Amino acid sequence: VKLICDLDTGIDDTLALAYILASIDQKTADGSNVDLIGVTGTFGNVTTAQGVRNDLAVLDFFGHPEVPVYAGRDHALGMRSFEVSPGSAFIHGRNGLGDIDIPDSTRAISDLSAEEFMIQSARQYGHDLVILATGAFTTVASALQKNPQMASYVGKIVMMGAAVTTCGSVNAWTEANVGQDPEAADIIFKSGAPLFVVGRDVTARTRITRQQADTWGAQGTERGKFLSSILDRYLDAYAVNFPALHGSFLPDPLAAAVALDPTLVQTIPLWLRVDLAGPTRGRTIGDPDRLREPNPTTQVSVLCDIPRFMANFMSRMTALAATK
Ligand code: CA
Repeated sequence: VKLICDLDTGIDDTLALAYILASIDQKTADGSNVDLIGVTGTFGNVTTAQGVRNDLAVLDFFGHPEVPVYAGRDHALGMRSFEVSPGSAFIHGRNGLGDIDIPDSTRAISDLSAEEFMIQSARQYGHDLVILATGAFTTVASALQKNPQMASYVGKIVMMGAAVTTCGSVNAWTEANVGQDPEAADIIFKSGAPLFVVGRDVTARTRITRQQADTWGAQGTERGKFLSSILDRYLDAYAVNFPALHGSFLPDPLAAAVALDPTLVQTIPLWLRVDLAGPTRGRTIGDPDRLREPNPTTQVSVLCDIPRFMANFMSRMTALAATK
């Protein structure tokens, strides 16, 4: 599988990226190898500029300076600019990495735009290409708008976003990544591209504890300490926002794991849409205009094998933490 990660890097995006890097020598569920052909930056937890800085730094830190980084859109389709919300800054820190420092990369981002890279990759790799999108969906939507045929030849777009059978994370009905740019999410849902939605419905079933996070730092390596430290900051924020959870969710890592192994979740086929007007703006729901239309190209995850996901996530991350 040829993989592009479209991230707003972000603590859980960093964990998702680290998980992907830890999976490069592993086989996916269909027996293929994981080839991370690029990381594209979007906004949400951080600005796009901060996100691509983090992407380069994280890739280098984990020993993968060969993976190119592309900058995507830096604000929503219907907006003129973007600012990190106080809620995001509280969870992810000023630098997106819980204010934990790792060295800046000496590499530069690519001259090619992220959307052009997605379009070219879809042309080149067709059904082998998987795009994992875990931030605002603006760049993916822009690529599909610019090249609508991409929807018919891309392998799959795995989206960490939406809340269909459960409440949102921004408010009772809006999930955060959809809420960053509802128009963009709606464009993707209506594009006809093969979509795999890993939303609040399943991500809110995940949980990692401080004890589990500490096992990486206990390896005594720089990588282990970094992983434990950023997750520690994330857990600090969750202790305030979700005191009853005694841990944190793992939204982006679950989406990354599903991108490599869709058998982790049970899905329902459903055409989705996003409410763009009225009081429920930002809500994802079955598209009422397509209820009689057969063969939806969107699979919505509704159940997840959490024990299998956690065992796999912990073993790969612990192995990565042990490397350096
Ligand atoms: Ca994210």
